[in-house]
Amino acid sequence: MSDSSGVRVTYIHSEQYVLACDTLSRIPRRASMVHTLIESYGLLKYMRVVEPSAPSRRELAAFHSDDYLEHLEQVSRDGDDDHPESQLYGLGYDCPTTEGVFECAASVAGGTLAAAGSLMDGSCDVALNWPGGWHHAKKDEASGFCYVNDIVLGILKLREKFERVLYIDLDLHHGDGVEDAFSFTPKVMTVSVHKFSPGFFPGTGGIDEVGMGKGRYFALNVPLQDGITDDKYFYACHTVLQDVFVTFNPEVVVCQLGADTLAGDPMCSFNLTPRGIGRCLQSILEWRLPTLVLGGGGYHQPNTARCWAYLTAVILGQTLSPEIPEHQYFTEYGPDYMLDITPSCRTDKNDQQYLDNLIARVRGRPNPVPRRGGGTTTSSQRRRRQRWRLASGGHRVARFLGCASAAVWNALPSDIKMPLQLCAIKSSGLKTDFFRTGFCVFRLVSFPRTSN
Ligand SMILES: [Zn+2]
Repeated sequence: MSDSSGVRVTYIHSEQYVLACDTLSRIPRRASMVHTLIESYGLLKYMRVVEPSAPSRRELAAFHSDDYLEHLEQVSRDGDDDHPESQLYGLGYDCPTTEGVFECAASVAGGTLAAAGSLMDGSCDVALNWPGGWHHAKKDEASGFCYVNDIVLGILKLREKFERVLYIDLDLHHGDGVEDAFSFTPKVMTVSVHKFSPGFFPGTGGIDEVGMGKGRYFALNVPLQDGITDDKYFYACHTVLQDVFVTFNPEVVVCQLGADTLAGDPMCSFNLTPRGIGRCLQSILEWRLPTLVLGGGGYHQPNTARCWAYLTAVILGQTLSPEIPEHQYFTEYGPDYMLDITPSCRTDKNDQQYLDNLIARVRGRPNPVPRRGGGTTTSSQRRRRQRWRLASGGHRVARFLGCASAAVWNALPSDIKMPLQLCAIKSSGLKTDFFRTGFCVFRLVSFPRTSN
């Protein structure tokens, strides 16, 4: 099933699934509100609805430790919020162990695994699981209201088929659990755009956190300040993500689109509207890669529902009426009963100089070069690659960005590509078979001295 733009979309949903997700104590009924708004706008007919099933213990243990899963299941069964060992697993405080929390968290993971499965069997181009996106949970620790990391489980499943996975986290908070899980691998690149401020949860996500070991430079953080609005947010996201797309050359994309960045959210930090987030999503979808779309934070429930219904329409290429349609939760959308959200007049602490400086620092880092076998480049190899003599048109210095497939190559703007046949490599130290497949992508960075 596809919409008019030809994008085949899978939508993870069942009545039982929504009821389970509605029980989360911090966001009661949010799943119902999101689903009923999408339904009342008439969007379901454009999507293939897939019912998720509860994952097995083995599926959850692909990331989480057996000890943690056993403990979480036990305290969830007993509704025991005072178990003496719970603290060891991050439970209590902002991760309360209410009765049934294990089943709820596990069913969300089942939803994300079903969405990943739809992308893997080729039955859709975009898979949607709005109740998913719990990015803080660690291997053996609950954190920031996240108990099971459905995103990590989904990415691990996608890796069974796809070589390189790009994870994009647009929640207000740093996607620490996902970044940590893949910080040592060059197969999964994580990009998180978030608020970074002293004392703000989870306290990580500075620009200098870039991944470790073989995964060095495969984690990228874009720390922003309070008050950012649509245009500047899009500028930062779009610039960074287009570079990542070229250098990392992903085969599949996973997006976490937490709605706690919206104006009016109780987090009271960013000042975005669904249209701003929609522009970012649209530019990701233009890559035409299999894409898994997940929710995340979002604590103003009507605004979260507005946002995710709007983003569903963006994916489907549909236009929604500006007035909220009559439905079960209609009264929650007062006083204006409109789809759009008006940004507040609070100060934007991200001036253009801050953003340009941030982008310059992101661009100044060495580029990850994905290679067969998953090895990483040494610094001397990298230095050699960054200074190539191009025979055509005199001696130019170009910065090597990576190898691209034909599809990626065709989508690139002309100012960042140069056909390989124009490049005569005078000295590189590189094995030529590295270049036998795909296209080499360069960015011309200067036109310096003409001598060797
Ligand atoms: Zn958040």
